[in-house]
Amino acid sequence: MKSAVTKLAAKKSSKKKLASKDNELYIHDLSQDQLEELKEHCVLADPGRCDLLCCMHETSTADNPWTSHYTRNQLNRERCTSHFKKIQEKAKDTTNVVGVCDAKLMLASAPHCSVDPECLIHYVQTHALVEGILRSFYEGQMMTHASSIHPVHMKCLNYKACNHPLHHKLHLSAFINKKQADAWLIRNLKKKYGNNMVMVVGNWSATMVKYHEPIRGVGLHQMLRAGGITTYLIDKFQMSKLCPNCFTGKLSTFKRVHNPRPYQRARNPIVLRHGLLKCENQKCMVHVKTKDGFVYRPHLFDCNIAATINMKHILLGL
Ligand SMILES: [Zn+2]
Repeated sequence: MKSAVTKLAAKKSSKKKLASKDNELYIHDLSQDQLEELKEHCVLADPGRCDLLCCMHETSTADNPWTSHYTRNQLNRERCTSHFKKIQEKAKDTTNVVGVCDAKLMLASAPHCSVDPECLIHYVQTHALVEGILRSFYEGQMMTHASSIHPVHMKCLNYKACNHPLHHKLHLSAFINKKQADAWLIRNLKKKYGNNMVMVVGNWSATMVKYHEPIRGVGLHQMLRAGGITTYLIDKFQMSKLCPNCFTGKLSTFKRVHNPRPYQRARNPIVLRHGLLKCENQKCMVHVKTKDGFVYRPHLFDCNIAATINMKHILLGL
């Protein structure tokens, strides 16, 4: 009995420790002495869906920009995501197990997150029906596809392709690539902003997650802290909607472009570009030279850069 109680107590204490580790401080909660210590070491970071991290040093100016972007495309390239997807698709075509694609389609058509008992029963029945096919495909696929061999290994004369389950190998490679990509990100950030850098990240959380890839939120902060980078949060409310030049104008979208999503071009050929914003304040103009001479036009901002400049103003005002 005692041992059970001590186990429970140990579990509770470990949960408390984890919770305290995850509780990040907001930058405005620090005292003036602590803020003084962080002076000229802070890097403002705006998290997002396409630009996963848009970073700007607090001493960055328009003439001497000190910024960096970490995009979703860069992450996919480092993790070889599309390469692994292609291997998985080719494995489906060459497998001896019949009906893998149909089984996956059947399973996808049965909703598993429903609170309706009938839907849940339908999902359990479908899962039981296709489990044998999918299990034999994912666990028994001992094939080594030619495209799964790295080009470096192909050049090696003594290289022999091992006969481990294909999907186990892909999972292991994906895990190793993820760890490597994290290490590269931390190394590049420290190289650009110095080893004493302090990351001040906007407290953005993704809305409308349906049909979108999952985004690392808390996991990204944990990874940065594990890499030796101190992180603080900053309130990101309305950061990308207020003009960082005049502080009164509202930023809005204006540019219409061809739809970048090919599968929606038939329905919506022209869409608004959300990344480029202009200030609506009529007095907030910039004098620029064009082919027809000098003209006044509204201030234009990249939405992530506008958010980081606003964060910088808040940080410098603390
Ligand atoms: Zn403005």
